[in-house]
Amino acid sequence: MDYMKKSVRDIDVKGKRVLLRCDFNVPQDDEKNITDDKRIREALPTIRYLVEQGAAVIVCSHLGRPKGERKMKLTLTPVANHLSELLGMDVKMCFDTVGPEAERLSREIKPGEIVMLENLRFEPGEESGDRAFAYKLASLADIYVNDAFGTAHRDHASVTGVAQFLPAVCGFLIEKELSVMGKAMTDPARPFVAIMGGAKVADKLGLIGSFIGKCDAILVLGGMAYTFFKAQGGTIGSSIFDEKSLELVTGLMKQAEAKGTKIYLPIDTIVADQFSNEANTMVVKAGQVPDGYMGMDIGPETIKEYSKVISQAKTIVWNGPAGVFEMPNFAAGTEGIAQAVADSGAVSIVGGGDSAAAIEKLGLQDKVTHVSTGGGAAIEFLEGVDLPGISCLLDK
Ligand code: AMP
Repeated sequence: MDYMKKSVRDIDVKGKRVLLRCDFNVPQDDEKNITDDKRIREALPTIRYLVEQGAAVIVCSHLGRPKGERKMKLTLTPVANHLSELLGMDVKMCFDTVGPEAERLSREIKPGEIVMLENLRFEPGEESGDRAFAYKLASLADIYVNDAFGTAHRDHASVTGVAQFLPAVCGFLIEKELSVMGKAMTDPARPFVAIMGGAKVADKLGLIGSFIGKCDAILVLGGMAYTFFKAQGGTIGSSIFDEKSLELVTGLMKQAEAKGTKIYLPIDTIVADQFSNEANTMVVKAGQVPDGYMGMDIGPETIKEYSKVISQAKTIVWNGPAGVFEMPNFAAGTEGIAQAVADSGAVSIVGGGDSAAAIEKLGLQDKVTHVSTGGGAAIEFLEGVDLPGISCLLDK
């Protein structure tokens, strides 16, 4: 895959209307208060740059799953208001995504001004990648800038469609994703260690497979470890486990051995007699979980051993928590791993979602090189899958 894509730095935007695709899919409470504005704050550098360069900025995003219908509880108006507060300047809300109001505002917008289009997913053509809808969207602007890495693996109208009609480049968020993750995947400093956790083993086998032969070590943890233990004939009690992945896991372990990638499995496990923070717990040898118990977190021996491997790494990719970290009694493993990654001094990439949340909860986000803004997209990128939202951008 070619990671060298043009960014806003490589194109003259002065006096141009720029359609900027952001990921403003932010959580809201019942009163439409934004409960976490991280995604909006992260987009500020690209927006400010465009404004300073004298572009007229037309921002678009999706929010939630309106499934092609105009559901006003998913309007982007609160996002526009919040963005306006953060920037200290007016952000005009457009009540269309495409259509007469959007066309009028796109004609009237002046350099240095910002308009926010209504939720892209109010339009059925967005997710179906409809060409006519993409054309209408593209007609509002002269240049397209994509800064929504989280949707780069989707063939949606605002992701790939508009790039067929406009010069297309990336913003600063995608630029950083490409430079940090691209380097790790093509020319990593060694040892290169992947830390793979979380619950959905089936979703991550592709990624584990792509790391075999590329990484020096893979540290398996979290819920997915029990499928590995089961594949080896261990006992896992009532721990989470994916029957369908058993065979593949066995195959991956053989491949890893043949290709010189060391797969580590936990040494000890904290088990509980129910899926609850108040459960009775004990520490047992991993792969020897007694009946009536389930594995909830890695144990202290595992934290120690994994931290040692992590401390020697020069490149680290981490995806997925070490245990049920949402419950305080089962968060120590994830916290220990987060601390080890932060202390390692390695180039460290945290792949979205829960592992990113753990790093942030501990205030360690500044100690890692890169926290990816895309969950599924980051996984596909690291797997080496060509992301349609990236390939359609102009090459450097
Ligand atoms: P994923 O989306 O695959 O990264 O999985 C994240 C989820 O995995 C989190 O909600 C964790 O609570 C969960 N998880 C981690 N370890 C375990 C475990 N041992 N048993 C059940 N769930 C787990």
